[in-house]
Amino acid sequence: MSSVQTLKALAALQEIDIRIRDLEKDRSQIPARMNEIDQLLGGKREELAIDKNLFDEAEMARRMLESDLRAEKAKIKKWEARLNEIRSNRDYQALSREIEAARKANLGIEDEILHKMQDIEDLKTNIAQKEEDLAKEEKTLSAEHSELQEKLDSLNAHISKEEKIRTKAVTCIDGRWCGQYDTIRKRRDGVAVVPVIDEHCQGCNMGIPPQLYNVVIKGQQIETCPFCHRILYYKKSLDEPDNLQ
Ligand SMILES: [Zn+2]
Repeated sequence: MSSVQTLKALAALQEIDIRIRDLEKDRSQIPARMNEIDQLLGGKREELAIDKNLFDEAEMARRMLESDLRAEKAKIKKWEARLNEIRSNRDYQALSREIEAARKANLGIEDEILHKMQDIEDLKTNIAQKEEDLAKEEKTLSAEHSELQEKLDSLNAHISKEEKIRTKAVTCIDGRWCGQYDTIRKRRDGVAVVPVIDEHCQGCNMGIPPQLYNVVIKGQQIETCPFCHRILYYKKSLDEPDNLQ
């Protein structure tokens, strides 16, 4: 395999790897958004559950107050009946005062019941609004969720296709260059082979020495950038290898 052929194969491999890298980057963002959707819906469901809990508690408190009120009213009725049987004036006054106090206390309970009923109404409105919002959110977000799943499936398929192409591409490159390519790629953000344009390495944008530039243009030797150590090629020499040999 000539140097030009090797460079051509390495540049092709680099293109495949960049495609894979971009696809993987797209893919990596999907689980985060899916998670975000789950959390968003989970949070809304939790808020709704809290309100429903408060509603149940308020209902129970109202029922308890109402049963207290019934008991108190029954007690007053009993006392009022007893009042007719009392002969002593002092006892009569004492019981009358107790009845009066109990009536006052009942007014307080009635007031509390009214407040509870208002709370219950407010919670009911809140819950209905939240249920409506949640239903809307669930509809849009679950549509987004399944779209993301589809995208994920398609990216996975695309990546495994590219990986197969890569396996094939690697087999026709000299193992030594493959190893070097992988080493540079790992250290240089996935890019190991770059073109030289206007005497500048396109990996690090540094100007390369004229002597090295001339060698790269010919493509008869594989050279690396003295600054970033990426493998360099001159695009024209890969496009027209026969003219240069
Ligand atoms: Zn460089």
